[in-house]
This record gives sequence, C-alpha cells and structure tokens, in this order.
Amino acid sequence: MKYSIIVPVYNEEEVVLECYRRLTEVMQQTGETYELIFVNDGSRDRTASIVSQLCSSDQSVKMIDFSRNFGHQIAITAGMDNASGEAIVVIDADLQDPPELILQMIEKWNEGYDVVYATRAERKGETGFKKWSASLFYRTLNKLSDIDIPLDTGDFRLIDRKVCEAMKSLKESNRFVRGLVSWVGFRQTSISYVREERFAGETKYPLKKMLRFASDALIAFSLKPLRLASVLGSFVSLFSFVFLIWVVGQKLLNFNTTPGWASILACVLFLNGIMLIILGVLGEYVGRIYDEVKGRPLYLVQEKRNFAAMQQQPLN
Ligand code: UDP
Ligand code: MG
Repeated sequence: MKYSIIVPVYNEEEVVLECYRRLTEVMQQTGETYELIFVNDGSRDRTASIVSQLCSSDQSVKMIDFSRNFGHQIAITAGMDNASGEAIVVIDADLQDPPELILQMIEKWNEGYDVVYATRAERKGETGFKKWSASLFYRTLNKLSDIDIPLDTGDFRLIDRKVCEAMKSLKESNRFVRGLVSWVGFRQTSISYVREERFAGETKYPLKKMLRFASDALIAFSLKPLRLASVLGSFVSLFSFVFLIWVVGQKLLNFNTTPGWASILACVLFLNGIMLIILGVLGEYVGRIYDEVKGRPLYLVQEKRNFAAMQQQPLN
C-alpha cells in the first residue's frame, strides 16, 4: 500500500459522500495504491451506514467503527494504528481542508520530507470568535511549550511511515496529535493554504470540546502553568514583605494606624482566590496523571470493515 488517508468522522452524514468523491478523484490521479480509512467516532446519525455501503462498493474504503465517541484526536490515533501506507495523510471530513492539496504534499514527500503539514493562511466561513480563539490558542501554546509547535496548523498533514511508527510508540493517553508529531521530529516542512468553508453541516467542536482540547494540549506540552504558581507566590510574598516594613515603620514613627477590616478582607479573599486557582491547575495535571495511570485502552472498536484478517492489533 502506498498511501493511507485517515478521515475521522463524527455525525458527518451530509459530507461523507462528497468527501469520498473528492478524495477518490484526487487519489486516482496519483496512479498508486491507496486506502481511505474512515474512523467513525461514535456518530449518532447515518454516517456509519453510509461508510459501510462505501466499503461494500469500493475495496479501498475501510472503516473503523468506535463503540462510542472518543474524540477527534483519538480517532486520528486509531487511523494511524491501522494504516498500512508508506505515506499517511490525516484530513477532516468536512472538506475545509481541500483534498487536492494532498498532491502537493506528496510532491514534498517525494523530495524527501517526512512530515508535510498544511498551515492555514486564511480561514473562510468561520465565526470571528473561532478565528480569534484559535489564533490565541496557537500563540499561547507556542509560547508555553518547550517544543516548537507550528502556528495555525491543524491535523491536516502527511507523515511518512517512520513518523507513524514513532507516533505509535508514544504511549500517552492524552493525545494532542499536532504536538506529538512536532515532538517526534524528523524532516518537517509546511505548505500554506486557504481553509475553506465547511461543505455542509455544523462544526463538531462546540465550545466545551474546544476548551477541553486546549487544556489537553497545554498540559501535555507545558509545565509552565505549574511554575506560574511559584512565580505568583514569590510576587505576593515580596509585596507582603514590603507592606510589613511599611506597617512596622508606621507604628514606630507613631503615625495614626487605622483599623481596617475591609483591607484585611480584601487581602484574604485575593490570596484565597490565587490559592484556589493554583489548586485547580494542580488538579488538571493530577487528573491527567490519573488517566495515564489507569492505562485504559485509548479506544474500543466495535467493527472493522475491509481490513485484512491478519491485521496487527493496535498498540495501546
Ligand atoms: N470529529 C471527530 N470526533 C469529534 C469531533 C470531531 O471525529 O468528537 C471530526 C469531524 O467529523 C471532522 C473533524 O473531526 O472530520 C474536524 O471537526 P470539525 O470540522 O467539526 O472541527 P472544526 O473544523 O470546526 O474545528
Ligand atoms: Mg471543520
């Protein structure tokens, strides 16, 4: 198998056929063998049955059907676990990432690059809030993380077999795929593109999932939020030390010292607030550690279609 295309799908009944059509058109132009792996992430609509029909009519279509919704990043991981191509491409089902770009990625891959990621020069048809929050997210992540995670770059990318093997060897269950691909290294390059509007349907990333995604990413790739606690602590103690000297000075020089419950209350509330925030940050990390320690499988598959019987089991 030359090329594997991984398409995570969650409630995408309106787009999945068009996605199949565009991908097939592009992949046939390469003249090489390919597989389209649709990972059905517990869709509640007709997505699974549509993909199932495609599997019956076209042997290059494969399906991994999750037992429930495990999330976009896990779906990509399952695709990588089961891909057999020499080059693997991850693409969204909603055609926001134009499939035609895959040909450019393949060109770069033939030049010898192991990772070709697609950077969004512009985003069409997305709300101002989404653009703003995404931009803020990529910049914050880039500042806080110790490795270089490219700005404005989603999961739309081509990776070489050896990068895929490296990804499979990473055992963590908190999977932020973009960060992990950066972490493994190899020869990486980018191409830039304009992100189109969604072909149909609505985003499958409501605010709650977006926040979860962002905190997973930050926590997986940065220890800085933890260090923030000590920085804040130092500032507060420095301030209170200066304040103490000032209070003692006032007393010694016999100024009028006013009894002020309001200021005390304000200080107490402020410090408690900081303390709770820090506890919350700690909790986020401890929770993720707990998840890792439990060592549950990343995902459960209820059905696989069109995979050879001797398929290797996923590495969890
Ligand atoms: N997706 C998924 N599981 C989820 C949410 C999304 O597999 O829980 C898939 C979705 O079907 C799509 C891709 O991830 O193929 C990107 O989602 P979407 O286009 O809704 O995100 P956006 O482009 O709005 O950020
Ligand atoms: Mg989309």
